[in-house]
Amino acid sequence: MLNIAVTKVGVVSCSGEELAEGTVSRLACREVLDALRPHETVTICLPLFIAGGEEERRFAATFPTITVDGCEKRCAQRGTEKLSGKPAKALVVTEILAERGLAVPTRRRNLEDADRAAAHAVAEEIAKAVDEVLNA
Ligand code: SF4
Repeated sequence: MLNIAVTKVGVVSCSGEELAEGTVSRLACREVLDALRPHETVTICLPLFIAGGEEERRFAATFPTITVDGCEKRCAQRGTEKLSGKPAKALVVTEILAERGLAVPTRRRNLEDADRAAAHAVAEEIAKAVDEVLNA
C-alpha cells in the first residue's frame, strides 16, 4: 500500500459573527496559520466551502481537517462532515475555555486583553491538535 506522509492540515473555523466565541475561533485560527504552525496548516474558508469552492472541497476530501467552532452548534464541524468527511479533530471554543478555567469573552468586537489571552489559549490547543494529527 502507498504510504504518503501527511504534511498539511486544513483548519476550518466557524464564521460566527453573532457570538464572541466565533470571534475567538477566527482569531485563534489566524494565530495558528500565521504564527504557531504556518508551514503545517492551510485555511479553509467555511462560507466558500459551503458555497461550493472546488479547491476547498478537494483539499478537505484529501487531507485531514481540524474544525474549530465557537459553540456547541458546531457549524464548521457539521458543514465539513456533510461536504467532505469527518474532521480529524473537532474543537469547540467554549469547551477549551472551560477546561482551562478561562472566561468566555462577552464582546464580539475589539476584544480586550483577557479575551486575547482566551484566543491564544484556543490557538495553543489547535496547534497541539495539528501536531497530533500530523504525528498520528
Ligand atoms: S458554531 Fe456557534 S459561534 Fe460558530 S457559527 Fe455556529 S452558532 Fe455561530
